Amino acid sequence: MCGIVGYIGKRQAYDVLIKGLKRLEYRGYDSAGIALLSDNNLNVYKTKGKVSDLEAFAQGKDIGGTMGIAHTRWATHGEPNQVNAHPHYSQSERIALIHNGIIENYSELKEGLLMHGFTFQSQTDTEVLVQLIEYVKNEHAVDLATAVQLALNEVVGAYAIAVIDLDNPDVIVAARKGSPLIIGIGDDEYFLASDATPIVEYTNKVIYLDEEEIASLDLINGLHVKTISNVEKTPQIKQLEMTISQLEKSGYPHFMLKEIFEQPRTLTDCMRGRVNISENNISIAGIIDHKDKFLNAKRIIISACGTSWHAGLIGKYVIEEFTRIPVEVEYSSEFRYRNPVIDRDDVVMVISQSGETADTLAAAQLAKSKGAFLFGICNVVGSSIARTTHAGCYTHVGPEIGVASTKAFTAQVTVLTMIALVLGKEKGTISEEMYLSILKEMSRIPEKIISILKQDNLIAELSKIFTYAQHFIYLGRGFNYPVALEGALKLKEISYIHAEGYPAAEMKHGPIALISQEMPVVVIAPMGGVVYDKVVSNIQEVKARKGKIIAVVSENDRTVREMADHVITIPETDECLYPILTSIPLQLLAYHIAVIKGCDVDQPRNLAKSVTVE
Ligand code: GLU
Repeated sequence: MCGIVGYIGKRQAYDVLIKGLKRLEYRGYDSAGIALLSDNNLNVYKTKGKVSDLEAFAQGKDIGGTMGIAHTRWATHGEPNQVNAHPHYSQSERIALIHNGIIENYSELKEGLLMHGFTFQSQTDTEVLVQLIEYVKNEHAVDLATAVQLALNEVVGAYAIAVIDLDNPDVIVAARKGSPLIIGIGDDEYFLASDATPIVEYTNKVIYLDEEEIASLDLINGLHVKTISNVEKTPQIKQLEMTISQLEKSGYPHFMLKEIFEQPRTLTDCMRGRVNISENNISIAGIIDHKDKFLNAKRIIISACGTSWHAGLIGKYVIEEFTRIPVEVEYSSEFRYRNPVIDRDDVVMVISQSGETADTLAAAQLAKSKGAFLFGICNVVGSSIARTTHAGCYTHVGPEIGVASTKAFTAQVTVLTMIALVLGKEKGTISEEMYLSILKEMSRIPEKIISILKQDNLIAELSKIFTYAQHFIYLGRGFNYPVALEGALKLKEISYIHAEGYPAAEMKHGPIALISQEMPVVVIAPMGGVVYDKVVSNIQEVKARKGKIIAVVSENDRTVREMADHVITIPETDECLYPILTSIPLQLLAYHIAVIKGCDVDQPRNLAKSVTVE
């Protein structure tokens, strides 16, 4: 959360920074600001609202300068208003700083600074840090980089920061701990950002700053990296694989819709080189190279948050089904703080689209410290989780910009299914016949998604009927129970309609009391498997209480079709692969309801992507 961007070189910094902020806006959008340094002036402009509000605010002002830093905020400390927006000035207004993260000991530091005569404008934790840097710089008569280093030694918490200073007009100092930061290297220019999206347009040479590292992006002395304990580091330059076209809407009104429609291709990419139909084989290097760890594991623990947690739950169902290895699924935020039992023969799998989710990263570090084998499933290449884990598997779906995750979710489920099949085959717990039949079905998933997407108009029409609803219930069983949770989450996130996902049979233990003719109930009921008949009975129970049923059914279904008020069909597939198909119409349903209600689909209120705070 919070987007950070910085530039130093020969271009006009304002243009680079504003463009960069727009790319990072998915990370936070309650306020935005920019600091520009030129001709012995350090100008800070900031405002409540989005980056477009900042542009309007900066119009007619002095926006010249070839170095600067900019920020789009997701507030943790202090309401989202102009004063609390970043950048924050130091007392003398000679230093400006932007920050992503939380300074946990800010009140203690603030007390000390107040005693030294510092005054504060904002309620943020961030302002304390810029004041501390100024205090240290003056007290010890040191340069900016040293002041940042000494100040960070006093800080408890998480941060990615960028600092500029009138006394050091050729350098941006940046540092990170717990929040991501990437440096782009151009010709006599440097870029800095929370992810690669603002950088890719200018250079593909990047450095991923490591934990507790401080970088000086110095136009005269070049790039220098050291740790906060003052150990010099040699930065490793990496090549970016991202392209600009991946960051654009390509004619779609929203990133979310574009990403929903990309799924036939993203899942093809996700399976490429892994699902090999001509050789009748599925292979995942990260699993095969460490297969003994998995095959000897007493259990697998999956740790994740939000949508990734739902994917993890589907992972439990498929991995247990095909490998008979017990799987536990944990919310990272609970797992990391509840002193969990973790053994050396456990495998801990962490799942995160961004690879930066703070709680999941902490869960990974905890598991590693207890000696477990750590496996990551991430989308963003080179992300913190990808670098922390012993092995892993990328989902390869390209940048996901819509705040509500869609294509990353289906790819996470696909990866987990591939893992289950690889391990099941190695362990001999899946029959050859079953393995081959699922393998073949997996290769058909992209074309089946194309046929579901053709119902987009029908789902858009259907959505109009339900925009009145204040509540929704989503029901599913077996592999589709986590899909019910995910469908409900999508609706909540972007349309602000309250929704509950439930295992269908649990309904009678409580939620059935909510059913009335006002209540839409989405039932995921594809044919096949042991639970279909049971779901049919659950639908009857809803109908008897006059609930409005929207059913997701197989194309050849007759039974549920007759009972439901509205039907969305999906092609048939193997039972374990249904979640990949059934989640697609639920993404579209949430999308269209939100659009009709006039909600900001790509930037829903209070949310942000890449949750880098606890
Ligand atoms: N704690 C800072 C603030 O509230 C930064 C928040 C964040 O990175 O999400 O301004």
